[in-house]
Amino acid sequence: MNTCEFCRAGAPVLSGLPTCERCYSEVAATLSGLSELLAGLRAATPRTLARPPREMNAPGGSRAGPSSPAHEALLDLRAELIATVRTWAGLAGANPAAPPVRTLLANLAVALAVEGGASAAGRLLHLTDTARQRLDPPEVIQVQDRCPECGTRGLVRYDTGGPCWCSYCYAEIYPAA
Ligand SMILES: [Zn+2]
Ligand SMILES: [Zn+2]
Repeated sequence: MNTCEFCRAGAPVLSGLPTCERCYSEVAATLSGLSELLAGLRAATPRTLARPPREMNAPGGSRAGPSSPAHEALLDLRAELIATVRTWAGLAGANPAAPPVRTLLANLAVALAVEGGASAAGRLLHLTDTARQRLDPPEVIQVQDRCPECGTRGLVRYDTGGPCWCSYCYAEIYPAA
């Protein structure tokens, strides 16, 4: 008996599919929620990414710009999600003019069973997870060092690591590894 390629929990696959029933439902739910997630990624602003709101009316306009590396990463992620879904719909033989998510949902069993279908679905789940984590970002913590640009103690970073940024002058600092 074949077991699910997705969760590796040893669950039996549904007949003719590479996934178990639970994973099948998860992929279906992910596809159903995708447009909302994509909208969230596009709407995410530097503010929702834990940047201070006064960045928007800082003297001299948008010195650091409304776009931060974190924001750009979200837009990249969005593009990657869209590309993954398009590629998958293509593998499943969908009409390129048709909306890929709807096509995949309507023929999910077939789309999972085609060559490359399961790995496209796996990639989609992985990207979706990443996107959700980015939209619900990790905690911002205060860094002890002074900002090398403006000398204040406004440096913060995510508790998960990555670069620091200054909440006063918006400089972005990559700590020496
Ligand atoms: Zn499974
Ligand atoms: Zn600073």
